[in-house]
Amino acid sequence: MIPRDHRSRPIGRRDFLQLAAAGLAASAVPKALGSFGQAEPNRVDLPPLHDTKVEAKERTPGPSLAPSERVGFAVVGLGHLALGQVLPAFGNSKYARPVALVSGHRSKALKVAAQYGIGEKAIYDYSTFERMVDNPEIKVVYVILPNSMHAEYTIRAARIGKHVLCEKPMAVSVGEAERMIEACGAARVKLMLGYRSQYEPMDRAIVRMVGEGKLGRPLHFVSSNSQDEGDPGQWRLNRAMAGGGPLVDVGIYCINAARFLTGEEPTDVVAQTQQLPNDPRFREVESAVEFLLRFPSGFSAACNASYDCHRSQFFRLECSDGWAEMNPAFAYHGLSLRLGRPVDGVDTVTEVDVEAKDQFALELDHMSSCVLKDRLPHTGGAEGLQDMKIIAATYESARSGQRVPLAAPAPTRGPEPDLEG
Ligand code: NDP
Repeated sequence: MIPRDHRSRPIGRRDFLQLAAAGLAASAVPKALGSFGQAEPNRVDLPPLHDTKVEAKERTPGPSLAPSERVGFAVVGLGHLALGQVLPAFGNSKYARPVALVSGHRSKALKVAAQYGIGEKAIYDYSTFERMVDNPEIKVVYVILPNSMHAEYTIRAARIGKHVLCEKPMAVSVGEAERMIEACGAARVKLMLGYRSQYEPMDRAIVRMVGEGKLGRPLHFVSSNSQDEGDPGQWRLNRAMAGGGPLVDVGIYCINAARFLTGEEPTDVVAQTQQLPNDPRFREVESAVEFLLRFPSGFSAACNASYDCHRSQFFRLECSDGWAEMNPAFAYHGLSLRLGRPVDGVDTVTEVDVEAKDQFALELDHMSSCVLKDRLPHTGGAEGLQDMKIIAATYESARSGQRVPLAAPAPTRGPEPDLEG
């Protein structure tokens, strides 16, 4: 329920024109949140969410490349994410195409290959992985394996000269993440982490608003990413394969969002974990984690993640002049963005629907354009490594009960994604 001292309202005509100018016209659908008996103000000063020039480019999709010109990807590991999200996303991409599969189950791979027009010769398994060196169509290897296998397959891909897109979390330890960066650097191949939220239009709108000071100074970030993990036999509950519990799997979204939305890096973390000793799912990993990150400007992030909770995926970024909230924030579909700001001296809540885009297609296209134009990925190895360091410090704090300091990293992100490629 919206507090009574906040007047919620639909986006006014002027808002809508501003959003239209900002490239959100077809997609920015005003949603009435209900008003509290007050007249619609004549003048509404919603600042443009986006830079007109950049968004106009995004609104008009660039030419899709012909299949023969697209960047070829080998998809490694045909599990839930690969089959349910990544492979279908190639259909929405402009610059990428699947050209090879790596799987431990050939019969499954044959079916998938037929579905995506991939030849039988381009199906590999984990022991024939290096044979991909002889397939020039494969430019990028997309590692979608259990977390403990990310480092091995990233390094093996780099050694055969293939660029790597790797799922989050980057690895199961800081040391592994460092070795992945080293291997890709030595082989002169690109390494990108699959932080899809950083390519998602609503998140990008918030980044831009914060960067332009439209919400004032970031002060607090509150976020949860929780779900109910049922099957006690799955690898996500095995410490060696997962590297941790909900913190590494879903809590990482909260960590990463606090960092990329503000552009700040935390100076320390204090945390606690829960274990649920009688629940067979949580013999090896925590059932939940709560943590507080502090940042140099005084900004702080209070986050939690759980494997024993009804799905909850939100954040609210509270700033001196307003707030931005996404709920859900980290889902594949159905994201929602609300802004709370004073308008003509009246606290106002505005819901803005930005055109939904396939986050995985955006991610694939970013990696493809980095390959085609020889650019650094926006979410490269350093971005993944920094999250790994924060995760390690969070577990250390939960173990010791102490606040754990974090060193300031060198800049972790490559150039802003240009969705034209
Ligand atoms: P799944 O368990 O569904 O799939 C993993 C696949 O890896 C398996 O299907 C299998 O494919 C292959 N594999 C190889 N060796 C093993 C092994 N020993 N045990 C289990 N699987 C093995 O996992 P997800 O698809 O859910 O997750 C994969 C990765 O993607 C994880 O790192 C996860 O964190 C990340 N992820 C990212 C999301 C995002 O939104 N960015 C969302 C969900 C997951 P095959 O049978 O073909 O060999």
